[in-house]
Amino acid sequence: MLTLEDARARVLDGIQPTPDIETIDTVEAAGRYLAEGPKARVASPAFDNSAMDGFAVRTADLGEAGGELPVAFTVAAGDDPEALPSRGCTRIMTGAALPAGADAVVMQEQVESDGETAHFSACPPAGNNIRQAGEDIRSGAELAAAGERVSPALVSALATAGVAQLRVRRRPRAFVLATGSELRGPGEALGPGEVYDSNRPALAALLRELGAEVTDGGHVPDELDALREALRHAAGYDLVVTSGGVSVGEFDQVRRVLEEQGEIDLWKVAIKPGKPFAFGSLGGAHFFGMPGNPVSALVTFQQFVRPAVIRWMGGAADPLRLPAEAGNDFYRDAISRTEFLRARLQLVDGRLVATPLSRQGSGMITGLARAHGFIVVAAGSHGFKAGERVMVEPTSEWCRFGEPQSRGEE
Ligand code: AMP
Ligand code: MG
Repeated sequence: MLTLEDARARVLDGIQPTPDIETIDTVEAAGRYLAEGPKARVASPAFDNSAMDGFAVRTADLGEAGGELPVAFTVAAGDDPEALPSRGCTRIMTGAALPAGADAVVMQEQVESDGETAHFSACPPAGNNIRQAGEDIRSGAELAAAGERVSPALVSALATAGVAQLRVRRRPRAFVLATGSELRGPGEALGPGEVYDSNRPALAALLRELGAEVTDGGHVPDELDALREALRHAAGYDLVVTSGGVSVGEFDQVRRVLEEQGEIDLWKVAIKPGKPFAFGSLGGAHFFGMPGNPVSALVTFQQFVRPAVIRWMGGAADPLRLPAEAGNDFYRDAISRTEFLRARLQLVDGRLVATPLSRQGSGMITGLARAHGFIVVAAGSHGFKAGERVMVEPTSEWCRFGEPQSRGEE
């Protein structure tokens, strides 16, 4: 069986960034990956301006102990001011262009003024409270590199620099299908032995969060012809993500149909939860077969599908792993597969403490829904004792570290 690392490398080897590049408005680009590094069209600031509400002065007009100057006029943001008269100052607002001749701004709290004259109790150093043209962004500078993800902050930097459009890789079209004769959709009544399909909504949500356009393929029973039909249709997408039917059960037919209609590149990875996982191709689509157990499906998605989608979109990402202190024991004779323990993460006196939650069953989705992250327990180890160092993967970029346990059970 492949290790987590080998399997992930195999999956990533099998994926190339899409060659399809499109030009889109910067305002729509958050979450996309750049195909080209955008260059600043204008500098920022584009002109010397005031960092404060205050008074613009020529420092040569003031002595070391300050002095008094007539207030010539007021400059507001957006004005194109005339030059500072000889021996004079101006009122100036934050972001307003500095009048020619001025070389410092004194914040208004340090100035006494009746509107006609201003009294300065000290002479500021030249450059004081001035944002210099080009100090943040030089015109023509590359603001980000190809392969970078467009973040909201980068959208702001690009907008500042007058970059209205970007060249990005397109979004993948993903087809999500749940398999299992026991599955029912939302709003349907449950008969004996039936369960609601929880993987399809979760996988669709994860894919959308990554930027994919998701088509809901519904759920199909564990019948060869139904599966064949559904997967034939799926072959026209960029990515196909299924749940269930990839294990060794009598009705686990997904692998068989994938073999008939496409190719299997790998099957089964030494991770827990999540061992049954199939990766391959189906027509022009990359195929990812998730296990049916809800926790396994989501862990497998995060470990394999997530980096694959990011690579397809032109980026690269490794999971963030942080060192933490174990909050309790998890000690075993032999751990043969890399384990992902659902854990609560808390900051205790400045130390990150990770405590495994009690509900670790691969079908127990509430453990995952309540978790702040995973403790990754290496295959071949014996786990850990309370207080020892463990590695954790937070489940989101905004961790709820230290949030009080509000829903009772842990
Ligand atoms: P499988 O991988 O098909 O053998 O399914 C393993 C377990 O996961 C079984 O208990 C299934 O009922 C359950 N399961 C499979 N698919 C889903 C799904 N889409 N939503 C919720 N549970 C599922
Ligand atoms: Mg099944």
